[in-house]
Amino acid sequence: MSIRKLLCLALSVIMVLTVFTGCGAPANDSNSLFKPGKYTGEGQGFGGAIEVEVEVDTDKILNIKVLPHKETQGVSDAAFSTIPKKIVETQSIAVDTVAGCTVSSKGILEAVKAALTQTAADMDKLEKAVENVVSTETITKESDVVIVGGGGAGMSAAVEALKAGSSVTVVEKMPAVGGNTILAGSAYNTSDQERQKTHEMSASELKRIEDIVALEPKNDLMKSWQETLKKEIEDYKAAKGTYLFDSPSLHKLQTYMDGDYVGNPELIDVFGEKAFEGYEFLTGLGAEWVDGVNAAVGATWMRSHTPTAKYGAKGASFVLPQVEYVEKNGGEILLNSKAEELIMENGKCVGVKGKTTEGQPFEVRAKKNVILATGGFGANVEMRQKYNKHWPKLDESVQTTNHVGATGDGIVMAEAAGANLVGMEWIQMLPTYGKGVFTAYIENQFYINKEGKRFVKEDGRRDELSKAVLEQTDAQIYIISDANTVKDGVTVNGSKVDEQLVGNGYVFKADTLEDLAKQINVPYEDLKASVDQFNNSIKTGTDPFGRTVFDKEFGKAPFYAGLTNPMVHHTMGGVEINTNTQVLDKQGNVIPGLYAAGEVTGGIHGSNRLGGNAIAGITLFGRIAGQNASK
Ligand code: ADP
Repeated sequence: MSIRKLLCLALSVIMVLTVFTGCGAPANDSNSLFKPGKYTGEGQGFGGAIEVEVEVDTDKILNIKVLPHKETQGVSDAAFSTIPKKIVETQSIAVDTVAGCTVSSKGILEAVKAALTQTAADMDKLEKAVENVVSTETITKESDVVIVGGGGAGMSAAVEALKAGSSVTVVEKMPAVGGNTILAGSAYNTSDQERQKTHEMSASELKRIEDIVALEPKNDLMKSWQETLKKEIEDYKAAKGTYLFDSPSLHKLQTYMDGDYVGNPELIDVFGEKAFEGYEFLTGLGAEWVDGVNAAVGATWMRSHTPTAKYGAKGASFVLPQVEYVEKNGGEILLNSKAEELIMENGKCVGVKGKTTEGQPFEVRAKKNVILATGGFGANVEMRQKYNKHWPKLDESVQTTNHVGATGDGIVMAEAAGANLVGMEWIQMLPTYGKGVFTAYIENQFYINKEGKRFVKEDGRRDELSKAVLEQTDAQIYIISDANTVKDGVTVNGSKVDEQLVGNGYVFKADTLEDLAKQINVPYEDLKASVDQFNNSIKTGTDPFGRTVFDKEFGKAPFYAGLTNPMVHHTMGGVEINTNTQVLDKQGNVIPGLYAAGEVTGGIHGSNRLGGNAIAGITLFGRIAGQNASK
């Protein structure tokens, strides 16, 4: 036989083998599971394709390497750190998805399966789950301070407790820390005259301050804030100030009045005083900020501080700097550990008990105190419905911006331990959310309905905005932006709009307003009239809807439209605390050993939280809890 004929025969044998074994069983040695080598596969994640490289020898998956992807940093991290490791450990692809990043998990699993399909002799074997034997022995731990919940409040508390010399254990039910904080829209509110000097104050903004000074005070604290503000604004005028005025007293007054005076003024007093220190605390830990200030949706004033993308997108800078500190300074973070009950002995909280994700019981005891920092209940439909009094419905048909772990566990545990709950009926909807959103800031944006018309003052309160959006066609609206919001395809805090969002069916981009109107199917004349109205409101200082927060004139191409709708976002109510963050019982007495901070608490934001106030609140009250619980 000639060499050529031999080659042909060999080739046809290979082809037959390939065809015969088909996809899923190409290992050619019948005793081996795999054909050794490296194989790539692709799966669909949240931000696009996820590609992996799987290395196998004859009978083992040796290694899984995830190639560069576009999943949200921070949010999807747990899927990438857990799933490949589990597959290698169990030699099975029937591993559970990771709570909180299900889509990324499924994408990784799909990619690994696609890679293995090219080499495995027996896919059925790989798809069999490996039985997990869980120990029933209780894991016991002890530290000075025990913190339940590893979001922004919990991690801020942990930093302060460590600084005060306490040993710290953070108990976190999810496979990663971060909670709702890491998903936050990137705004930290505090008055900060240095930064606010870059922004001119309009006559309508000055009038708003004067109106606040003239309000009938509800109590002595409010009166004292007004007196301070009056003096400050007189000094500002005497110094012929033209920049945007702000101060802790104005911040307190707006927080109180835009929460309809439902919040506890004593907590708001601390909030306004300490907000700037909280910002400096994050900066001291490594957070970096973009220049100037912004106005988050519902902030009602230009005092939102925006972190850079140093720690990743969205709210990463409000929690990862603290995590770095905690890890470097000996704090212990127990992931996948769900607290189920506060341990009470002789009326004092002495620890917490619960179960790991795998089902093993644990008990963590506190030599000093326990801090609850478990966040809100926006993702708990049952609780939403139980407490809702102000929205037509909050059943499962209403989406939420929250992570799956925002189920109000801490509120339930604290109540069982005798804690009083306040403001539970106040549930916030974020008026504008979904795949059409790329920034939390409204100063250079306006909203139109599907008819192309503005319908509300975009710098208003979140409750008012959400109610207005719910009344529009399909309860959806377009956020209209220009190059002042998206510069060179990227927003101020690093969201890659052109690369990651345009073309997703919710975000539209055009070089002209005509084209944008066409793409979103609204009459051009109406869109143009909305732009003219926006610019005219800046020029005249009078907006038909009463908007006062503006930055630049609108009209710099390219133009963007994002389709959005309201979603459950924040729960203002929760456990009652005093200004030391000690949890109070139904008689107003302190529950010994128990502190709380963050969204698990009520009483700060009243009936409506200002956009950007949550991050300030969780950070500064988290710090206070950490300091006091260490005493
Ligand atoms: P905050 O903004 O108040 O810090 P977050 O939502 O950011 O609230 O963080 C709360 C954290 O608490 C989340 O990481 C969440 O997974 C965690 N958590 C909630 N319930 C429990 C629980 N039962 N056990 C442990 N951790 C919990």
